[in-house]
Amino acid sequence: MSESSPLEVHVLASGSKGNCTVIKKGNSVILHDVGISCRRIVNGLKELHIDMAQVEGIFISHEHSDHIAGLQQLLKRFDIPVYTKQGTWREIQDKLIVPKNQLIELTKGSLSLGNLVVESFGVSHDAADPIGINVFAGKDKATVVTDTGVISDSILHRMDDTTLLVLEANYDPHMLRFGPYQPFLKQRVASDEGHLSNEMAARALLMMKRPDFMQVILAHRSENNNNAVLVTQTIGQMLVDGGVRIGPEMKLQHGQPNEIVSMQSVKR
Ligand SMILES: [Zn+2]
Ligand SMILES: [Zn+2]
Repeated sequence: MSESSPLEVHVLASGSKGNCTVIKKGNSVILHDVGISCRRIVNGLKELHIDMAQVEGIFISHEHSDHIAGLQQLLKRFDIPVYTKQGTWREIQDKLIVPKNQLIELTKGSLSLGNLVVESFGVSHDAADPIGINVFAGKDKATVVTDTGVISDSILHRMDDTTLLVLEANYDPHMLRFGPYQPFLKQRVASDEGHLSNEMAARALLMMKRPDFMQVILAHRSENNNNAVLVTQTIGQMLVDGGVRIGPEMKLQHGQPNEIVSMQSVKR
């Protein structure tokens, strides 16, 4: 049964106020980042008819609060292993009260969790040891890449052949430049260890090796330095100019701060 069940990606929340993504195939479920309250995560899962007892692991990309805010309460209520890098776990322990033994350190190589095979890879962000993840399930591959200032060749390679992609499109450079942030913060966002602009996200989509059909959720959009219309216009135009047929070849959605946005694999 689980062989035929689709790979599902549900972005429960996306943006600087909190990030959380559910990845599921059949009975196997993992969480990627838990930057919203435990209550919201439990309720979100309930909406998706997923029980917390099904969650096999919590993957943490990095220690910024919009990615870990719900972790302390989650671990208080549920016994779920946390998968992340040693450096990230150290930072988390400085910020939150969490059971010391809950970490399963991510190393090179792949990890089997039920129907899902997970691999992590480094991204470029001002945190201890930030990562993105690949999730393989049958012919499908889900990838989550947010909170990175650049898409390096190695990150691009990790995106290759992804059928379900969660990709950061954080800021519009013009809005950032003329927006409300302090100069140091503007510099931080736009730096190699900051966030991805709409243009950079589009370029990554054009440069990666794309399957015949892929679905994308554009994520971690800034509330101050971007908006959904600009994301659609900028990325849509660049993709069309690059020869991508939006619709038949690529479906694009926006991650939202307060509603669930979902995609699931289609039969091929
Ligand atoms: Zn961050
Ligand atoms: Zn973030």
